Amino acid sequence: MNLIIFGPPGSGKGTYSQRIAPKLGIVKISTGDIYREIVKNDKTSFGKMIADILSRGELVPDDITNKILEERISQPDAKKGFILDGYPRTLNQAKFLEGTTKIDAIINIIAPEEILIEKISARRVCSNPKCDGNYNIADINRTIDGVEYLLPPLLPKKDMICDKCGSKLYQRNDDTPEVIKERLKIYEKQTSPVIEYYKKTNIPFVNVHMNRPPNEIVEKILEELKKLNLIKHAS
Ligand code: ADP
Ligand code: ZN
Repeated sequence: MNLIIFGPPGSGKGTYSQRIAPKLGIVKISTGDIYREIVKNDKTSFGKMIADILSRGELVPDDITNKILEERISQPDAKKGFILDGYPRTLNQAKFLEGTTKIDAIINIIAPEEILIEKISARRVCSNPKCDGNYNIADINRTIDGVEYLLPPLLPKKDMICDKCGSKLYQRNDDTPEVIKERLKIYEKQTSPVIEYYKKTNIPFVNVHMNRPPNEIVEKILEELKKLNLIKHAS
């Protein structure tokens, strides 16, 4: 089964796809992860060029991204299927993908801006570079446009101290409402034409509100894929 996941920054799409992939026996493919690996390991002029693009927050040119994606999905581990996270980002990429492989469904995570801003502003991450501890102090329980948002906090046991390693927690300096609004605007601008493109195809959409903790969102997505007869049973 081949899937694409769309969702604004802070919607948790990376987490959901990471958890869904093993349940479906498919691989998660994130072009952002691939590029970060290249920046870390490739010391050639190509790696340097990618590093420059990423540090400016720009998109890598389509011909490069398409080639990288094509190579990745032809690897043996992707034969049973994949879930694409962060690709396609442009119409050119969407068209390239259409000519390369069949997509069975599109998962589209929906979240109102105010929820995303509140959740992202409430992130607290561990200051120890060797630790991946991350927490969230927002406690959301309200209804917006008829959708009930019940998103409990993920608090450390001790205030502003990492449970895993005891280091201090801090707030990333790009997790502020201003920066988040800017990131959401860029996402909107980049992704809406791609989503509009897919709406005109007959690929089914699975629209899911980000209104519950990740476990429940993952279950909802699997339920919807079952309804589409894409999976017989979810484990
Ligand atoms: P973000 O931090 O914007 O959510 P990702 O983690 O998905 O981004 O990707 C990090 C960076 O990798 C992007 O800013 C962009 O430079 C590059 N990148 C990732 N996916 C693509 C893509 N599909 N097309 C072009 N560039 C991409
Ligand atoms: Zn820690």
